Amino acid sequence: MEKISNDADTLEMLDARYLMHPFTDARANLQGGSMVIDRGEGIFVYDSSGKKYLEAVAGLWSVGLGFSERRLIDAAVRQMEKLPYYHTFTKKSHAPQIELAARLIEMAPVPMSKAFFTNSGSEANDTAIKMIWYRSNAMGEEKRKKIISRKRGYHGITIAAASLTGISVDHQSFDLPLPGFLHVTAPHYYREGQEGESEDAFSTRLVNEIEALILAEGPETVAAFFAEPVMGAGGVIVPPDGYWEKLQPILKKYGIILVADEVICGFGRTGCMFGSQTFGIEPDMMILSKQLSSSYLPISAILMNDMVFEPIADESHAIGAFAHGFTNGGNPTAAAVAIEVLNIMEERDLMAHIKDVSIHFQARLRALGMSSTLVGEARGVGLIGALELVTDKVARSSAWPVGQLAGYAFNLLENKGVIARVMGDTLAFSPPLIITREQVDMIFDRVEQVLVQVENEIR
Ligand code: PLP
Repeated sequence: MEKISNDADTLEMLDARYLMHPFTDARANLQGGSMVIDRGEGIFVYDSSGKKYLEAVAGLWSVGLGFSERRLIDAAVRQMEKLPYYHTFTKKSHAPQIELAARLIEMAPVPMSKAFFTNSGSEANDTAIKMIWYRSNAMGEEKRKKIISRKRGYHGITIAAASLTGISVDHQSFDLPLPGFLHVTAPHYYREGQEGESEDAFSTRLVNEIEALILAEGPETVAAFFAEPVMGAGGVIVPPDGYWEKLQPILKKYGIILVADEVICGFGRTGCMFGSQTFGIEPDMMILSKQLSSSYLPISAILMNDMVFEPIADESHAIGAFAHGFTNGGNPTAAAVAIEVLNIMEERDLMAHIKDVSIHFQARLRALGMSSTLVGEARGVGLIGALELVTDKVARSSAWPVGQLAGYAFNLLENKGVIARVMGDTLAFSPPLIITREQVDMIFDRVEQVLVQVENEIR
């Protein structure tokens, strides 16, 4: 047989030949051009040519403890040597999953009852939807199946999770969303607020829209409301004043389960352990992943309160089993790594570090909103932030086709050794939680240089 690759092929060439990438133009990728990341050290990664980058998005908002945390590696090795794999189906169990469940329930910001483990954020959201449907059936409320989420919300890409997601490219040509998934206006004051409308009035309008939708659909048909405390992939959208305060009583009034998708916000990102604490959210279910294991191994969890769990328990008893679960959900090695993440956060008082460094992070971010003519809005909270770029600040618009301005700035920034994230015309930052003030300066000094360069080029 002819050899399909040879020693002269670079990794980049093999990538173009053999890999299909997620969230990538598959046709364009055949021409190559992927950056192959070779190794990591602290908040930095190195590509295959040895070039160093400050990872200002922590991979996919997820590598909270940086790319070289020895204790996580040791925890994985210890667990693999003892018991690399077991499951929790049909009344089997293992210590790492039990301990992690107990830790998460104890640290939850509101009383929670049970944890269920999966492998990814998408799987966890899918599982939560199935639990919610199962519960409605258990309660004899067979019609209560509709789910409300927000435009611009990102909840993953499995069929049901992508239906929750409110970003059109995630639906296009996939025949999604499924019926019964309803999307309401994004709480994005900069883009959705009306002339002269205060943030608080904007929140009132959005909550009225949600209540009107519930009434129009029939409250007895609406099962749950899913939301990220801060929208990440939708453009780092921080809720406007009064949003959660006004929304939660409406959901309670109609018996609608509130699910906080903490996949990005969880474990310190917004300056509190959970985004729900930062915004006074009292969810019935929480979806956790990403920083839970600092992304060293795949793991995610659904936490639920008794109001959710009890009917599910009754139904599973009647049927004989809650017939849902994944072979690797809460794998002992992944669970051991997650426990070590929690140990490290506690022992190093990482929350105090985040609170301190995020003051500087937000100050530098917002200063660019004042100084640069290209920054329409600088927004964020804790260690997550974004710059929405425009060429006309007053009109809040760009003379360039959508995405090109931020795309151009993103490329310049990458050349300067900083990896950010671009969504439309928004540049997002969500660095590892271990970042120092000096490293925050490294990011924003370079962002500033890039913005000045672009300003000069287009003037
Ligand atoms: N929920 C949120 C808020 C996310 O940001 C993501 C991923 O970015 C997901 C869910 C999906 O997680 P995964 O990619 O692990 O399926």
